[in-house]
Parts: sequence; structure tokens; C-alpha cells
Amino acid sequence: MAEPDDPIPLCVPNLAGNEQHYLKAALDDNWVSSAGPYVDRFEEAVAEYTGASHAVATCNGTAALHTALRVAGVEEGDEVLLPTLTFVAPANAVKYLGAEPVFMDVRRETWQLDVDKTGEFLKEQCERVEGRVVNRSSGRRIAAILPVHLMGLAVDMEPLVELTHEWGITLLEDAAEAMGVRYRGSHAGTFGLAGCLSFNGNKIITAGGGGMILTEDEAFADRARYLTTQAKDDPLEYVHEEIGYNYRMTTLQARVGEAQLEQLDDFVERKREIAARYERAIAEMPGLEPMPAPTDVEPTYWLYTMLAAGDGSGPERRTFLGQLRDRGVLARPFWHPVHRLKPYRDNETWRIEAADDLHARGISLPCSTGMTEAEQTKVIETIRDLVY
Ligand SMILES: *Cc1c(COP(=O)(O)O)cnc(C)c1O
Repeated sequence: MAEPDDPIPLCVPNLAGNEQHYLKAALDDNWVSSAGPYVDRFEEAVAEYTGASHAVATCNGTAALHTALRVAGVEEGDEVLLPTLTFVAPANAVKYLGAEPVFMDVRRETWQLDVDKTGEFLKEQCERVEGRVVNRSSGRRIAAILPVHLMGLAVDMEPLVELTHEWGITLLEDAAEAMGVRYRGSHAGTFGLAGCLSFNGNKIITAGGGGMILTEDEAFADRARYLTTQAKDDPLEYVHEEIGYNYRMTTLQARVGEAQLEQLDDFVERKREIAARYERAIAEMPGLEPMPAPTDVEPTYWLYTMLAAGDGSGPERRTFLGQLRDRGVLARPFWHPVHRLKPYRDNETWRIEAADDLHARGISLPCSTGMTEAEQTKVIETIRDLVY
């Protein structure tokens, strides 16, 4: 049990459901690897929850992204458009294929991919050449757009879907932070050719680790399943016509994931309560701004994040974070814009402003679904003490 003076963690798993029971049953039945019925069962449960026609389980979300990009036809020398304000995984997945990310800005009001600016980039910098969209400055093909539904909110998908149709560019979604999020009634990750989920330990539901590819396209799902199981063409003779990956989820992961999925609606409810309480408190504090609540989105507020005010009246983010951590509130800064990370400093960017600004001001607060009201009160009181 947590002691009253233990630091309050940022976002930890909540394993109060059937996890132990399901795990024990799997061990008792000798099902631990990817063989057996339980990985399929978890896939079906996630497909049903999200409304996707097909779900392909993977060992983690990054593997899901890598596989989805490859099945979508992203190749060496291609470019993929993605927001710079994100966890680094989607950019890395693009690089695994020898392709290059081109970094777009996010919208200041929603923190999500700026669809207008992305359209501007296509219009001003790209042209159609023999059915392909080519970046004029690099001469490379734009093979896909990969929006990231950030922090339990969602990208404004309707204009983005329109934009990708207009240009004939493949749309893939990184919904790793958006399990349980809906945009205009549909689950995040179900708008493009494929969407990827993560069940990492800090996500809203966890499988210890794990990921999932969602798609409406049966051939896409079949090919993803094939590539994630070492591209085995003859399982008896071990014939492989292509280079695949060992990316399948194990039964142990799937069983934990299934137990977590049973609790997801409760977790979403809990995240919303936590967010509402932070929102009320922070709205009244000088120099701080609460997390946005974009219209058209049913959010989970996966990682509750506030901003130091943009008019200069707010606290200095780095100092403030240190002060919170010194007082046992394990807050964290916003994702580092990926175009500023060493492996990506030479990559092309397009008019990035808001992402840098949000990074300079963002502070994610403890928001585990199992956190107590007393713990949340302590976080709020600690912030209050610091700003007044
Ligand atoms: C967590 C995360 C991933 C990667 O998921 P893993 O399961 O940790 O590999 C990908 N994209 C985003 C935006 C994430 O937050």
C-alpha cells in the first residue's frame, strides 16, 4: 500500500480486475506463447470494442506501427508526414523502413496535428507526378500521413480524411494514446487504412506490453498477421518467401489485456472525473491553463496535461516541474518535439510554431485511474501553494 508521503506517480497500471485469474488459467492450461485461442480472443474483443472489422495483435505499439507502415507500402526513400509533438515511436517506425518523417505542426488549441498547415505543405511544396505525390524539394514520394491522437484527445479527422482523399495519400493513425477515445462517434484509429493501439504499461489499459493494428481491409489484416509471424508460407516446412518479424503478442499479454479491456469503460469514466477536478481547480489559478476539450471528441484525457500561461504570467515550466517533483508530485514535461531530437534534426519540417510553444509550457500531472481523491487533492494543493 502507498504511504501518505510516498511520491504520487504519473500514470501507473490499475490491475484490480480479472488479470490474476486469467493469467493463472493460462498458466494452468500451458498457454503462454502466441499459440492457442487467447490472442485471437483478445483481437476479437478489441475489434468489437473499437468497431473495427479486423484487429491484429502485436508485441507492442511500435511493432504495430512498423508493420502497418510496411503493409501500407511505405518503402525506403519515401516520406511520411507526422506531427512533431508526439512520443518518438511513430517517427522511429518510419525510419525502420528506410523512409523519412517530415514533421508538421500541431494546433495550439487542440494540441493535435494541424490539418490546415498539413494541407498548406502539400499545396505549396508537393506536386502530383504520375499518380504519386512528390515533395518538390526532396524529390521523394509522400507515401502516407500518420496523425497521432495525442494524450487521450483526437485529431480533427474529418478534414484530414478529406485532405488525404483529395491528394490520394494513404492515411494511417497512431492511436496508441487514444484507446477509448471517440471522434464524432467513431473510435480513434478507425478512420484510415489502419490504426495502431498500444498496451504499454503507462497507457489507459495495459497488457504488460502489446499493440494492435485496426483495419477495415481484410487483405491488410491478413498481410499484417503474416508479416508479424515471420512471413511463414509453410508452417510445417518453414518456407519463407519474404522477411517477416517476430511481432506477435503472447497469450500472457492477451490475457492481461482482456482483463483490462473489461475495465476500460470504468477507467475512462475515472480519467474524466480526474480531468474534471483538475480543470475546475486549474481554471481558477493564475498563470495556468487547463487541458483543452476539443469539440467532436469524446476524450479519455489519458495523460492530464496543463499549460503554463502563454502570456508570460505563468510559472517557468522547468522550475515548476522540479518544485512539484521535490514535493512528491511526479509530474512530467510534454513530449519533446521530435524534430529537435538528435536522430531527426536534419529532417524536413513545415512551419512549426505551436509544438515548440506547447512543449515549453506543458506539464503532465499524476492521473492514474487508481489514484485516490486524497492524492489528487494533494496534487492540487501543491500546485496552488506554488502559484500563490
Ligand atoms: C506509447 C506510444 C507508442 C508506442 O507504443 P509501445 O507499445 O510503447 O511500443 C506509439 N505512439 C505513441 C504516440 C505512444 O504514446
